[in-house]
Amino acid sequence: MILVDTHCHLGIMPRDELHEVFARARKCNVQKFICIGAGEGIESAKKAVKLASEFDFVWATVGVHPHDASDFTALDELEELVSHPRVVAVGETGLDFFRDWSPRESQFTLFKNSINFAKKHKKPLIIHSRDASKDVLEVLTKENANEVGGVVHCFSEDANFAAELKKINFLVSFTGNITFKKSSSLREVVKEIPLSQIMLETDAPYMAPEPFRGNPSEPMHVFQVAMKIAELKGLTIEEVANVTTENAEHLFNV
Ligand SMILES: [Zn+2]
Ligand SMILES: [Zn+2]
Repeated sequence: MILVDTHCHLGIMPRDELHEVFARARKCNVQKFICIGAGEGIESAKKAVKLASEFDFVWATVGVHPHDASDFTALDELEELVSHPRVVAVGETGLDFFRDWSPRESQFTLFKNSINFAKKHKKPLIIHSRDASKDVLEVLTKENANEVGGVVHCFSEDANFAAELKKINFLVSFTGNITFKKSSSLREVVKEIPLSQIMLETDAPYMAPEPFRGNPSEPMHVFQVAMKIAELKGLTIEEVANVTTENAEHLFNV
């Protein structure tokens, strides 16, 4: 059984602990890692590409997080990094109307530009959507993001949104948040979305699943996410691993 952590922020985890992080992950069958290079302007992108060049089981994404949307030059600076052979996606990009750390107008502009950047470089998109599903769907549709497809990560919206995303070639990925006590309605959503549209992630070091809540999360916690999905869908963990890993391998070509 092979599991993939399709969304982890390895670049902000302590560098000298990464070997142990990978070893613990492998014990839980997590063998491939998509390291998200978005945040701190373009610093995360640089770190992600570096890690992906160092470890052959790590791949990178590059993008500008909606929280940094006011930084108007950051996307241009990614032109060199995005063509690196270990870069498999553009993101995370999208809209965050929950925190609203950047003005919404700048978030919209960056989001549209990021979609076109992904299309130009023929890479799938990693989408961050918080309290913004309607607008995210509208922008993805208008900008023809279906040409490259991608994933809406840390999915926490309803099954309708997922069904609309499927029509435009987008998957969803779940984190440890599906194990939280208060997430009972999200667990119902998990039951409704077909496994063929689902990938697994941790969003490490955030979103540690039960019973590890309160601690930093690590890629090994993909195992808990897989277990929960198996339980909710009445499947074995191997069945969940097979399909979600195939989805990830296909989307990112890893
Ligand atoms: Zn995110
Ligand atoms: Zn993230």
